[in-house]
Amino acid sequence: MSGAAPRRRKFEAAAREALADSQLRRNLAKATGTIREKRAVATGEMPDWQELREAGRRVKAGVMAHLGEHLERLEAAVQERGGVVHWARDAAEANAIVRDIVAAEGTHEVVKVKSITTDEIGLNEALAAAGITAVETDLAELIVQLAHEPSSHILVPAIHKNRAQIRALFVEGMGLDPSELSDEPRELTAAARRFLRERFFRARVAVSGANFAVAETGSVCVVESEGNGRMCTTLPHTLVTVMGIEKVVPDWQAMEVFLQLLPRSSTAERMNPYTSFWSGVTPGDGPQAFHLVLLDNGRTRVLADEAARQTLHCIRCSACLNVCPVYARVGGHAYGSVYPGPIGAILTPQLQRSREADTLPFASTLCGACYEVCPVKIDIPRVLLHLRGRAVERRRGSPGGWRSAEDAAMRAAAYLLAEPWRYQRAQRLARGGQGLLARRGIISWLPGYLGRWTQTRDLPAVPRRTFREWYQERAKPAAADRGGRS
Ligand code: SF4
Repeated sequence: MSGAAPRRRKFEAAAREALADSQLRRNLAKATGTIREKRAVATGEMPDWQELREAGRRVKAGVMAHLGEHLERLEAAVQERGGVVHWARDAAEANAIVRDIVAAEGTHEVVKVKSITTDEIGLNEALAAAGITAVETDLAELIVQLAHEPSSHILVPAIHKNRAQIRALFVEGMGLDPSELSDEPRELTAAARRFLRERFFRARVAVSGANFAVAETGSVCVVESEGNGRMCTTLPHTLVTVMGIEKVVPDWQAMEVFLQLLPRSSTAERMNPYTSFWSGVTPGDGPQAFHLVLLDNGRTRVLADEAARQTLHCIRCSACLNVCPVYARVGGHAYGSVYPGPIGAILTPQLQRSREADTLPFASTLCGACYEVCPVKIDIPRVLLHLRGRAVERRRGSPGGWRSAEDAAMRAAAYLLAEPWRYQRAQRLARGGQGLLARRGIISWLPGYLGRWTQTRDLPAVPRRTFREWYQERAKPAAADRGGRS
């Protein structure tokens, strides 16, 4: 059983396909709308919410400024408590580390608690290639795994599925009798529970992600709502945690801030139903072997870019997805990455560095709603603009890149707008040339490449008289009048 890796396509093409799916848009609108409302209530209860956001921002900025030191402290504390720390430069190294640990345990099945980081590195697929089945135990992750689809939301991976679709997946994927399962949430949950319990009890190895890791004591933290994380982190003999290096926090005081920010901002809860911490191993209690895999996979590159570094502050609450007008219409799959929505639009191009990923910073209206809700105040619009500029520069540097129609249009615009007389002459030329295209002051159709603009919106025609012309006509008699009176 393995989730399909996301296909990498340009956002534009994928979004067009998604927009044609009206069922998807209905599911998304309902789900994001509900989460948005609940979140507003949960955060509105806190009189110091803005101060908490600022505290979260400061802690994260401090971590980034001394990331190396915090990670070394974390490593030492984990080792002191009987854990083993591995450093992985990229996905291939991380996958090989986990695969070897599982193989050494002599098992062919692992249980997993939701870990977007392992999705980022394609761990399930790497384990499957080695004959190891990874069973997702988060209900929504299990749904998308049974559907052989990637997640479409950080927090609610099956946000694009409705109850009837989930029932069909359970019947087929769990080998159930269709007459014995309705699409009632209670029945669906009970079916998943029975399916997962068997796997929890027989698992020798569990793989988890991490929301945070406290450098001070080497404690790793996972927050979740279903208790599956608690099962994974306590029942199996061996626990492997794959964690992005940016998840480290210095001490427990920092946790006080994040454990208030995260639940209210993500699931709109005052606290998470299950908050699990573990520090190394405890003889006779819980996993008897603990491995922490610290993953770079492009993060140090992000850290080196001062203008985009704040991307690493993200605590994966997903609030920015739920307010994004683009995400709410196209869903997560259009982003072609495990990180969808506004955070995906800035994180993915920095981690992946591909032409397809470079289209993601353009998947935004720059409305700023993501910045308004972000619990750690990541200025996503600013980073989007920075990455757009970088993508354009990179395209210019590629063979034939400077000849793209968009680039040519921008260069022409820059040339015309640089001098008033050029702009005025262009206006006069356009007025003469627009001829039959302009109707009642509007151009609704343009030929060729320019038609991409009028496909979705009208273009105002150049008026018979521009403001400048109107002003000059009025200014002349007025000046003559003043001259006459003096
Ligand atoms: S960028 Fe901010 S709002 Fe978006 S997921 Fe990360 S922490 Fe949450």
